[in-house]
Amino acid sequence: MEMFGNYDVVVVGAGITGTVAAIRAAREGARTLLVEGSGVLGGLVTGGRLTKPTGVVNGGVFQELIDRCARYGGADNQVRSTHWGSYTGSFDAEVMQRVIIEAIEEAQVEVLLRAQVVQAVMEGNRVRGLELRTKSGAKLVLARVFIDASGDGDVAALAGAEHMLGRESDGLTQPITSYFRVLNVDIPKLVEYSKAHRDDLTDLVLPEHEATRNEDYVMLLLVRGFTKRIEEAKRQGFRWIIPKNNITLKAGLIPGELNVNVTRFQGSGLDDRTLSRAEIEIRKQAYCAFDFLKQYVAGFENAIFLEVAPKLGVRETRRIRGRYVLSESDVLSQARFADAIGLCNSPVDIHEPGGTGASMRTVGSGYGIPFRCIVPQAIEGLYVAGRCISVDAVAFGSTRNVPACAMTGEAAAVAAAHCAKHDIETSQVPVAIVQERLREHGIELGISDEGADRGKQGGADAVTGQVAVTHS
Ligand SMILES: Cc1cc2nc3c(=O)[nH]c(=O)nc-3n(C[C@H](O)[C@H](O)[C@H](O)COP(=O)(O)OP(=O)(O)OC[C@H]3O[C@@H](n4cnc5c(N)ncnc54)[C@H](O)[C@@H]3O)c2cc1C
Repeated sequence: MEMFGNYDVVVVGAGITGTVAAIRAAREGARTLLVEGSGVLGGLVTGGRLTKPTGVVNGGVFQELIDRCARYGGADNQVRSTHWGSYTGSFDAEVMQRVIIEAIEEAQVEVLLRAQVVQAVMEGNRVRGLELRTKSGAKLVLARVFIDASGDGDVAALAGAEHMLGRESDGLTQPITSYFRVLNVDIPKLVEYSKAHRDDLTDLVLPEHEATRNEDYVMLLLVRGFTKRIEEAKRQGFRWIIPKNNITLKAGLIPGELNVNVTRFQGSGLDDRTLSRAEIEIRKQAYCAFDFLKQYVAGFENAIFLEVAPKLGVRETRRIRGRYVLSESDVLSQARFADAIGLCNSPVDIHEPGGTGASMRTVGSGYGIPFRCIVPQAIEGLYVAGRCISVDAVAFGSTRNVPACAMTGEAAAVAAAHCAKHDIETSQVPVAIVQERLREHGIELGISDEGADRGKQGGADAVTGQVAVTHS
């Protein structure tokens, strides 16, 4: 097999987790390679068009990226309040991809796109290398430390790490959803309709300032509901094929643009046939929802279907068992930990596996994410970060949100760079040193009462209040 290279740190997966990790590792002085299976930088936050952090972005590289987006006019970048707590405002997916490229190049991260990790090369219980499938054949990449930011925990699973999947009762995972985008909506007309049908909406959040034109709603409108309207349409013979009875609409950066969250497909994000079916069924559902909106909701008469998000919205796959499994009670009781690496106030947001419902539970001012959640049990040379960290199925409803993904990416990178530099085992890194560096990067750790006012209940009035966040 051809050797691709030998690095201090190799990060697998260029979602928000891997992007933050690679930039931070390189800035810490590590020779860093970022390997990504697709051609997209940013993963779900760019390719999945998931541009709305559910929770406060906790300093570090992710906040810098949002600041950069804001300088291009591509982010709201305000901390706002809603019924479960505070969160950082939306950004635009393409502007985010632009600033990721800038930051990666400045940090001198080497990037290898369209390279799928297919095998781990082990030396005893240590990950020593990875086999990549590329256009030109199989390649071997070696590193002192690897960071699994694949979302699916692919590297850890290939290395033989134990993992958990789905909820405890039946192993089902949260459903797959892809957003789609619509242009040329008459938003003032939609708002008028929404106010007139307020009893059919669970959320209607409007800009604080007076708004009369499409431009006034950019990144600031959110509407959720339409359940009665869907039922009425079905009675009239409309063929609604989506296993969900409400729609969320969110204004994007382009005046008249709405991002629509309505599709839902149940199945394993690790199964090839399921993934293939999901891509097609979700598109069919998106076309169905678009037809419904055009026919039954005012403001959509001249709407144009722009796109289904190019990256399939897989919410949940493997959770790698680490040296600590963060639990539902930890999260809901706002637990703090001596080895915490980030304070997370993202609510527990669960889309009912196998069902049609969803729930959103506040975690108040937030909990600390223990460093042990990113250290896989019994494997050296590897940290996990992002979606696949060590949590139970309920805590996952919170840690899957982008603020936590970015925090764990940043911590894994600081630890990995330190291990590479000082030739230390990944399980033996002094956590206090990692915490000190994270604090220097403006990250609140979640050790004691830091940031205790972060998640205070917003109590925003649904009609006149600030932008709110609903289920993701
Ligand atoms: C429909 C939906 C709505 C959501 N809404 C919100 C929201 O409103 N707010 C919020 O905060 N969060 C939301 N989330 C959650 C959040 O977007 C994701 O959990 C988060 O973006 C995951 O980031 P990540 O970097 O860990 O993973 P990903 O973004 O999935 O990135 C992983 C990357 O790894 C690559 N990869 C995978 N396997 C391999 C391999 N073997 N070799 C090489 N590369 C590989 C993938 O191609 C991908 O680019 C939502 C998620 C979904 C699906």
